[in-house]
Amino acid sequence: MTTGDAAAELQAEGATSREACAALDARDPLAPLRDRFLLPPGVVYLDGNSLGPVSIGAQGRLHAAVTQEWGRDLIRSWNTAGWIDLPERVGAKIATLIGARPHEVLVDDSTSVNLFKLALAAVSARGGRGRVVTEQGNFPTDLYVLQGLARLCPEVEVLTVPRGNLARALADGAALVVLTHVHYKSGEMYDLAATTRLAHEAGALMLWDLSHSVGAVPLDLNGAAADLAVGCTYKYLNGGPGAPAFLYVREGLQRELVSPMCGWMGHAQPFELADLYDAAPDLRRFRCGTPPVLGLSALDGALEVYDDVEVPALRAKAVELATLFRQLVAERCADPDLRLGSPADAAACGNHVVYAHPRGYEIVQALIARGVIGDFRAPNLMRFGFAPLYLRRVDIWDAVDALADVLAKRSYLQDEYARRAAVT
Ligand SMILES: *Cc1c(COP(=O)(O)O)cnc(C)c1O
Repeated sequence: MTTGDAAAELQAEGATSREACAALDARDPLAPLRDRFLLPPGVVYLDGNSLGPVSIGAQGRLHAAVTQEWGRDLIRSWNTAGWIDLPERVGAKIATLIGARPHEVLVDDSTSVNLFKLALAAVSARGGRGRVVTEQGNFPTDLYVLQGLARLCPEVEVLTVPRGNLARALADGAALVVLTHVHYKSGEMYDLAATTRLAHEAGALMLWDLSHSVGAVPLDLNGAAADLAVGCTYKYLNGGPGAPAFLYVREGLQRELVSPMCGWMGHAQPFELADLYDAAPDLRRFRCGTPPVLGLSALDGALEVYDDVEVPALRAKAVELATLFRQLVAERCADPDLRLGSPADAAACGNHVVYAHPRGYEIVQALIARGVIGDFRAPNLMRFGFAPLYLRRVDIWDAVDALADVLAKRSYLQDEYARRAAVT
């Protein structure tokens, strides 16, 4: 079923009913995928864009890694279980989700560290000078990594410009452009191919942060001729808290770029134990230390679900869920302080939406107390993610029902909801 059909059916009922949502769920070919996840009862989880839930696949693979591989086979598992190649093997699986070739993706370290490695490698390949262009309001770690890079490379100038000024900023040329494909707050999504072309016309390499895109929206890095990319695996890919991140380097650049973090696992022959560093001839040069085997194993298991579903089908369902949520909020949440903080068209966004409200923090806490888990992003944004692998239309209906009630009764004003925890 297409998004248009579903919207028409819901509209035909007048006000959108929970029964209409349940009827659509009953016919959803993706519905059985929900059974692959271990979701706590009574929870509507709208935060899978920040930390995906545990799956049977991840749990099973992690259990096997702990009991059989680590527990029984001990150090032999580096060879017998192929621990040593996990960064490449799991990378090859992610490659199919982002339009890359298997040998162009590696999973290791965090997104922040991978950004640093690729950004510094890119400007070093340009003589350690030139302009690096990024966007105001980009995810903080992206901005901080570039600020740190500028301190290390005094001849690099980092330009942080509003999105609307990007083309003008590139008119004078650049060495590197660093952008996040789906904005972590607004959800606004760049045209990957057109923006990459813009960077190339400026003479720059293009580095994409795909943290809110991978597994959520169809991506074609090869088709866009994108040079470099990084992204999280604990969000839509459900790899688990702190799961290692991926990095992508276009094949033609792999011998030209050198990692600024030369560790033994990036050596051409790590177990020759030579005194002199000799970078691996391929993407493995971007490995640094011993890979996080347990995190990689959980992620490997979490990715099993993608053997049975294509990203375009998931994206179509996510847009339908996001559209339903927006429509229900418009119908039922008449609060003069509530404002949509994302572009009006759900198809122009990734799979999440934000609403601004001066009491956003308290409202999110009041919703969490009722089992509807979204998150808050300073200064006043309530963020709701629509992960299509396990969410149903009735979940969306129940979430907006709770939001409408919390707003109408102003129950968010209770003292307990104002206390701020360390992580929001
Ligand atoms: C979540 C996120 C990160 C997180 O980076 P870590 O190194 O895993 O903490 C980076 N960039 C973007 C755009 C994100 O949304």
